[in-house]
Amino acid sequence: LQQDLQELKDCPAETLDGHRIPLWVNTGLITDALRSLDRGAEGVGLYRTEVPFMMKDRFPSENEQQKTYRLQLETFAPAPVTMRTLDIGGDKALTYFPINEANPFLGWRGIRVTLDHPEIFLVQIRAMLKASEGLNNLRIMLPMISHISEVDEALHLIYRAHAEVQEEGFAVEMPDIGVMIEVPAAVYQIRELAQRVDFLSVGSNDLTQYLLAVDRNNPRVADLYQAFHPAVLSALKIIAEQAAVQKTPVSVCGELAGNPLGAVLLMAMGYDMLSMNATNLPKVKSIVRGISMEWAQQLLGEVMQMDSAPIIVATIQLSLEKAG
Ligand code: PEP
Ligand code: MG
Repeated sequence: LQQDLQELKDCPAETLDGHRIPLWVNTGLITDALRSLDRGAEGVGLYRTEVPFMMKDRFPSENEQQKTYRLQLETFAPAPVTMRTLDIGGDKALTYFPINEANPFLGWRGIRVTLDHPEIFLVQIRAMLKASEGLNNLRIMLPMISHISEVDEALHLIYRAHAEVQEEGFAVEMPDIGVMIEVPAAVYQIRELAQRVDFLSVGSNDLTQYLLAVDRNNPRVADLYQAFHPAVLSALKIIAEQAAVQKTPVSVCGELAGNPLGAVLLMAMGYDMLSMNATNLPKVKSIVRGISMEWAQQLLGEVMQMDSAPIIVATIQLSLEKAG
């Protein structure tokens, strides 16, 4: 197995008919990053910056953050590293910044918190920018966007942080900026979002939770949390189509991208890149290498006609087995 993994590492994620789909990884700890390189990741599609924040008992300083981010960027350079700005609230709590709410998933989360606390946001962006000096492989991504004004406000702060670090003498380029599509409202604003940013990335975990109104961590309704729900697949297809119209690169960084059955559908929908945890990457790559794009698109056409997630899952599974 070790040898198989080693061989697969250097093979491209390419279908039998020559369609390439870059496979990137999701990271949080530096150990994730190191493990990812072994597995042939072509970049980092989601670095969850709240993870290093959760390891502390107070907000990390700008300097501390800069060092942490530098390590991630250096580990992957020249490959791109997509850093998501702090995504706390919901299920992710910081002991030193408690948020107590009745409906945390519908409350003060992600960009909502950091736009209300620009001092936290600015320190983080400045640290990211400083860390990228000389490497220029940084991409910045905004979580939990539901209003266009949030993007405008965040961009304004990012430009301000960029001007500040340049004034301090850091020669850093402006990184590509992206928005996460993880709230249903964002699905219907792809054009407006794409006009403002360089890339889009679907957070399918939250998008599924919000589309189906099912808490992603509540065991009582776990049966209703269906990543292959027809409505979820429809939303994913609309996003890919709309992003293509806008000529804006779009990827998926939720768990669905690391599920081989999901990856096949997402590739067929036209997603430009998939980002997943390092453990799933070799499996997804070997599936991609065993099928053709034409086959995947035909399968997608079939499952988009179906009305039940279990049947959709069984159909993909069966088709993959038949395809060998
Ligand atoms: C998602 O929502 O799909 C996602 C990638 O972000 P997180 O799981 O960290 O909320
Ligand atoms: Mg999310």
